[in-house]
Amino acid sequence: MTHTECNLCQADRSSLLFTKDSLQIVKCLECGLIYVHPQPSETELGTIYKNGYFNGTGQTDYLTEKKLYTPRFRERLKDIDSLKTNGKLLDVGCAVGYFLEAARQDGWEASGVEISSYASEFAKKSGFDVFTGRLEEAGYPDKHFDVVTLWHVLEHMRNPAACLKEIHRILKDTGVLAVELPNIESKRSRKTGENWDQLKPREHLYYFAPSTLTRSVEKAGFQVVRVSTLPKGTHIGEKLEHLGRTKIKKWLIRFFPLTRWIKTILLRIKKVAGEDDIILLYAVKSKPE
Ligand SMILES: [Zn+2]
Repeated sequence: MTHTECNLCQADRSSLLFTKDSLQIVKCLECGLIYVHPQPSETELGTIYKNGYFNGTGQTDYLTEKKLYTPRFRERLKDIDSLKTNGKLLDVGCAVGYFLEAARQDGWEASGVEISSYASEFAKKSGFDVFTGRLEEAGYPDKHFDVVTLWHVLEHMRNPAACLKEIHRILKDTGVLAVELPNIESKRSRKTGENWDQLKPREHLYYFAPSTLTRSVEKAGFQVVRVSTLPKGTHIGEKLEHLGRTKIKKWLIRFFPLTRWIKTILLRIKKVAGEDDIILLYAVKSKPE
């Protein structure tokens, strides 16, 4: 039997929560971090992130899909602007570069890191400097970036603690870290258990709650400025991503202005209902004196 050390507190005592897709999801008995144990090998993960992961995105879909993602990314950039107004921004897990595009429009010198060469080539074609591979392999200089963003990425990594430490190293002393990922303590997660749609142990290796994400970020040396929870599905693009080139997708894109209007209303209802499937966290390397 393989022992996995907890990525947050290094304990190796855990209890089984679920078995899904033949993988076990356990909870650390010391700190409460939830993770896949044992973890899929690097080879298995490599297979997941080959071209197929992004194959819904082709040249023709690029502009329309970008439109679908942009409103949410603008909201995130507004949050970031309240902490830092300009400089070098790195989006880790930048995919085809939708956020990079929004950041560039907002005046940021935006670059990215992306494990899928298919997606990174796409972002490069839009003129972005993108490193293809893992963040730790990129070898950025110390104190290089003003902002590093992780949009639905940290939960996919085999070693989130190492990633956060690396981000701490490459951020300037006044740098900002932004993280968004699924909330395992959400009402829907607790209600639906192993059927929760974010419980995808081949892709999502870690399941954070606001408390465990805060502690992970603090352990890497950051000071958390804000943690909040919000409803999922603020973005129809997230759903479209997995539809590929289907008729439904074409229809949704065609009637985009209408779907956006419906979405806004649905989102308001979800907020009122207190949906909390997503965690959004902002942290700084060190607080200004
Ligand atoms: Zn632990």
